[in-house]
Amino acid sequence: MDMHHDYIPLPEIYWSFETGKPIEHCSLCDCELMIAGTHYLIEKAFLKGETIFEHALCLDCYQTTHESLSEESRERINAYFAEHVDMDRRQETLIEQHGSDHEKWIGHCLVKGFPVQEVEEYQLYGFCIDRDLVFSGAPYVLCGEVIEEILELLSAETLGVMHDLTEKLFGIDAPKDLLVL
Ligand SMILES: [Zn+2]
Repeated sequence: MDMHHDYIPLPEIYWSFETGKPIEHCSLCDCELMIAGTHYLIEKAFLKGETIFEHALCLDCYQTTHESLSEESRERINAYFAEHVDMDRRQETLIEQHGSDHEKWIGHCLVKGFPVQEVEEYQLYGFCIDRDLVFSGAPYVLCGEVIEEILELLSAETLGVMHDLTEKLFGIDAPKDLLVL
């Protein structure tokens, strides 16, 4: 991540539903995320307007998790996005039209374009550096339909990795498997 991107203080929608504050520790290794210069990813899932899960992964844990997906699955995920979204163009257009008005970035599904208010289920993603949300590809949302389509592309091995991760993060009561992109 380079430093030319726009950023804003982490909007409340990215804060922890449980604590009402920003998520302060990596959900896997428990390292501190609020230390200046710490990069991490936040993912939250919403069902009918309510948060059903949330977590933050530091860059190390994110990379380790991503690398544990099978190569085939990673290629398929990349191909899926390349086919449906022009991320560079999206970045340019949004910055030009809306700057760092994050609500404009997360108002519609990245792939399908459905307004989030009209979908039952969606996942919200954001790349962050300590107390800030960074505009670099993310923030974005994926609607439930897209999550389903991507899960269908994944190998059994990768689904196993995601299932293990979900268990590690949330215990056996996890609502459903995560999609770490
Ligand atoms: Zn970590």
